[in-house]
Amino acid sequence: MLDPLFKPKAIAIVGASTKELSIGNVIIRNLQKYGYTGPIYPINPTAPEVCGIKAYRSLAEVPGEIDLAHIIIPSTLVPLAMEECGLKGIKAVIINSAGFSEMGEEGAKLQAEFLATAKKYGIRLFGPNCQGTINSDPALKAYCNFTFTYPEPGHISVVALSGGVGALIMQQLADLGIGQRLYASNGNACDVSIPEIIKYYGDDEETRAIILYTEGFSDPQAFLESAREVAAKKPILAMKAGRSLQGAKAASSHTGSLAGVDIATELIFEKIGILSFGDEGEMVRAAMAFSSQPNPTGNRVGLITNTGGPAVIATDVLVACGLDVPKLSDASIEKLKVTQFPEASLENPIDVVATAGGPQFRAALDVLMEDDGIDSIYINFVTAPFTDTDAVAREIVAVNQLSKKPMVCNFMTNLDLERFQKTMAILKAGNVPFYANPTDAAKALGALAKYGRAKQRQIGQPTIFADIKPAKAASIIEQASKEGRSVLSATEVYAIFEAYGIPVAGWKVVGTAADAVAAAAEIGFPVVVKVDCEAIDHKSDRGGVAVNLKDAAAVQHAVEDMQVRLGSFGTLNFFIQKFLPGGRELIIGASAERKLGHLVMFGLGGIYVEVLKDVIFKIAPVTHLEAAEMLAGIKTAALLDGVRGEKGIDKEAVIDLIQRVSQLLTDLPMIQEMDMNPVMAFADGAFAVDGRIRI
Ligand code: ADP
Ligand code: MG
Repeated sequence: MLDPLFKPKAIAIVGASTKELSIGNVIIRNLQKYGYTGPIYPINPTAPEVCGIKAYRSLAEVPGEIDLAHIIIPSTLVPLAMEECGLKGIKAVIINSAGFSEMGEEGAKLQAEFLATAKKYGIRLFGPNCQGTINSDPALKAYCNFTFTYPEPGHISVVALSGGVGALIMQQLADLGIGQRLYASNGNACDVSIPEIIKYYGDDEETRAIILYTEGFSDPQAFLESAREVAAKKPILAMKAGRSLQGAKAASSHTGSLAGVDIATELIFEKIGILSFGDEGEMVRAAMAFSSQPNPTGNRVGLITNTGGPAVIATDVLVACGLDVPKLSDASIEKLKVTQFPEASLENPIDVVATAGGPQFRAALDVLMEDDGIDSIYINFVTAPFTDTDAVAREIVAVNQLSKKPMVCNFMTNLDLERFQKTMAILKAGNVPFYANPTDAAKALGALAKYGRAKQRQIGQPTIFADIKPAKAASIIEQASKEGRSVLSATEVYAIFEAYGIPVAGWKVVGTAADAVAAAAEIGFPVVVKVDCEAIDHKSDRGGVAVNLKDAAAVQHAVEDMQVRLGSFGTLNFFIQKFLPGGRELIIGASAERKLGHLVMFGLGGIYVEVLKDVIFKIAPVTHLEAAEMLAGIKTAALLDGVRGEKGIDKEAVIDLIQRVSQLLTDLPMIQEMDMNPVMAFADGAFAVDGRIRI
């Protein structure tokens, strides 16, 4: 329960200072200026008062109860102060002071020390090395923070790992005139964590949308679980910084090198329906729409414009955001004919023309509100000097207040003119989300629609396969691990695939050319011969794959040739496999992800996979819907349906395969990396013909 932190009834400032421009002074001033309604107790060993408030020499001397304390004193004194907080019965502490785990070992020791004291007394710790919290509730007005933006009450709550970004977001929201509800920036986060704060915001009735800024999570699984519940209730708009591939980990397998730098956070967002942004301004502008608009129930948008070009730009952006700009119904067009000027265009966008006033805008808005084929409304409103722009704004507000369908407005004007400031004030007072250009307005509506889609997406439960032999697969891995091997042999890999019901091309591992010929006859020609040697990773790079061998002589020759060329790599075995020509080459892979399980990868396979990089990742366990999304999500998805008269592939077989791999990973967490490249997919069935597993 984080109430003492976000709804403190009384606040002490340990380290209150009479020095202006010190944190121990600024926080008290902020509480005063913002209008905190509870008692403030400055703690200072010498000063009789701070900021005009009676000060106390110690917490013990404070007469009343305190539930929240700020600590703003040198780091070495914090453990003792924590003890005093405990004795006073304080329930939550914000440590603004720095000098702890961010500073190395000494600091980390101090942090561990006061954390233990806090645990002993049941105190919840916020920080250290942090800004603090804000609660804009008019009945409380708790500004427990040293920043300088004073948000109006509202419905957007912000949590930011970085105080700098948090302050930036807060300022941008304020600049747009968007009210805020709760704010938190928790620095080192030694106790109260972002997942916990998100959960608290989720339970807060006044919070309608949440903004999150992160650079990754120390416990991604905990975040996934708590945010999943919240995201199902209210929109979470998130930004994860640190996306560049520069730090991409070097890994030998396909999957490792294709995953790149921390993509897991984005994948968590996608899995649980958090809206991900790459630009903090865009995120804040979207929040403006979320704070006042209902959720769209579909993708069909109707546009009203009093100027041509901006409607074209808006249409392009809306379509790029996955929205649809459909034709209006005949009934709607008939209604428009009666109410609009003769020169108006009655398509979608409806161009009411520059001379349109309040009545024309209102009539067009009403038509879109009533048309069942329209889910949301986009308005271009340029303040034509020869029209009553206030009347137009009032009509937009009136329709907005019905709150039937979400709307956004691109409001193009010159705010140096008092007349248009007034028009803008009408939109603002009426809670219309308005923006300065068509792209921004269209993107904000795009974000609303994306959330609508995320809410409707039912990812379902992962399929549990019953026809598998987990114990057999586990024993193979245990054996290899006992022998100190991390790369499994072909025999082991294929045995594990078979244990999990993954279809493979008929195969046999042999040591000599004579055995190879016998195995080929057993499997049936044509066959493929592949070298099997721990030191050879990518076999075709070494000339270790011979395909389409039609008879015994060809098999014998292929084996003998590899023995001569590749003998220096060590003991060679040979993998004889049924040749399966003419399939679409796909890749299915996986890599272990720190504290999150595994990432599963699907894409276009074959030997060019690293060049094409046409792959999609998801977090295991992968459901049927997610597997289907993977197939649909690659750039070359059309190839799976067949082009130029080719037959399409058996998608259900591939979806099944992905889910079997997902279950394999869930059951066998010791797998570090695996891939099947290629999986040969046909109109009927899909088969793994190459596999690697590293444990
Ligand atoms: P590596 O990836 O180690 O080079 P593969 O076993 O993937 O070796 O073989 C390389 C290529 O040979 C595959 O991408 C595929 O085009 C082809 N190939 C391998 N096995 C078969 C098979 N059983 N049937 C048809 N083509 C195959
Ligand atoms: Mg391969």
